[in-house]
Amino acid sequence: MASWSGTTRRRALTGAVAAVGAGALAAPRAEAAGRVAFPAGRPILIRRATVVTVDRGVLPDTDVLVEGERIKAIGRGLTAPATVIEAGGGLLIPGFVDTHRHMWQTSLRGVGADWTLGDYMQWMITKWGPLFRPEDIYAANHLGMVEAVNDGVTTVTDWSHGLRTPEHAEAAVDALFSVPGRARFAYGNTFATDLGWVTDGRVDRVLRERFTGRPDQLVTMQLALEANDTEDGRAALRFARDRDLAVTSHAGVFGFSGDEQIRFLYEFGALSPSVTLVHAGSLSDGSYRRIAGKGAFLSIASESELSAGQGYPPTAKARAFGIPLSLSMDTVIWWSGDMFSAMRSTLSADRGLAHLRAHEAGHTVAHNALRAADVLQYATLGGARALGLDSLIGSVTVGKRADLVLLRTDTAAMTPVHNPAGHLVFQAGRGDVDTVLVNGRVLKHRGELTGPDLPRARRLAEDSFAYLRSRIPNADWEAAMNPPR
Ligand SMILES: [Zn+2]
Repeated sequence: MASWSGTTRRRALTGAVAAVGAGALAAPRAEAAGRVAFPAGRPILIRRATVVTVDRGVLPDTDVLVEGERIKAIGRGLTAPATVIEAGGGLLIPGFVDTHRHMWQTSLRGVGADWTLGDYMQWMITKWGPLFRPEDIYAANHLGMVEAVNDGVTTVTDWSHGLRTPEHAEAAVDALFSVPGRARFAYGNTFATDLGWVTDGRVDRVLRERFTGRPDQLVTMQLALEANDTEDGRAALRFARDRDLAVTSHAGVFGFSGDEQIRFLYEFGALSPSVTLVHAGSLSDGSYRRIAGKGAFLSIASESELSAGQGYPPTAKARAFGIPLSLSMDTVIWWSGDMFSAMRSTLSADRGLAHLRAHEAGHTVAHNALRAADVLQYATLGGARALGLDSLIGSVTVGKRADLVLLRTDTAAMTPVHNPAGHLVFQAGRGDVDTVLVNGRVLKHRGELTGPDLPRARRLAEDSFAYLRSRIPNADWEAAMNPPR
């Protein structure tokens, strides 16, 4: 085990002791504030919520009973010996599912606000990425997990392509398991010159040692890679197929990849429902037809595509060809981890393009084709389907795992709520996330994290950033922060 791990565990222990002390002091204040305790093993009854099921419409004034890891019952006037959460009409939704986030970049949050994709490749990938130590990967992923839970993203795909060595991969996985949110570890390595790392034993070792292969493990694993028609590309895809590992690839990225990649994947038999293609905005109709025909998913990162320039968010093409969609945030080095923002920008991009095309043709759009409820589905059940987890998560459904998000509706912006899906997309934000359950466990309540340790996450990220910044020449930092217009 690498030495950083020991350091991390010692820190974790110190943090835990500190937390116990702080908790003892804070308890009277918490009780005064009416904080609810959630004893392990005791069912939880969420009372009088506006339940946005995603798969069966909206259920007003409805109770949801959570027993163990699962949703036990949904109905009106439910009674059970349980810890009660009074929803007061708040919106109860399935947790968001992000299908593409480079969590190893979290400690550099916001640096690239004015970057293009070229700027990102120059600074983040070429110059700074190789500076990351395993503990930097851990710190970023840990903070990313805390952020996801806090924001109601109950499943986040760590598109982990900063894993130069097996120690980096261990650190990434350790961090995902360190917070009890749900995650998909997508093992990648953008620094390698070929895909030999897929088959050289390191991926198999992580798979064997850390993952059960069961979909209900809180963290599951897949591969993140771009395979082309080369010997190592074919070997990597065979490796994934032999192990039943899902694959996610950046695709249809202007200047980087196009129809040739899709044609190869199609002809090699590597397009399937266990493949998620990220961006996919710069492709021909023939490629969209091939993707649709094989049931592969797209991950739309609309804020990324609109700002960085991979290609226009292809939601209209996906609808035209019947390609299932999920949403993602890509990286917080530019944007936020805010899935409300993802829904909003996706809907706006789709409608904006339709209006532009109509005006260019001399007419006007009579009715919007893409609806708020559609992008809410992409952000929840769509993501669950893309990850092959829709039998477990993605909707508020009896029998599914209780990955639930309750939004408060007692603020000005959340009053009144007449159109729940529209409200979620255009009115709500991360600050409205009141309560978060993952796998039946309350991780946030009344706006405060109840499990994840934010102070520790912040400290680790600050230490990591201090190290990384010390390795970046001042001239580079200034140039990166102020890219030429
Ligand atoms: Zn990406």
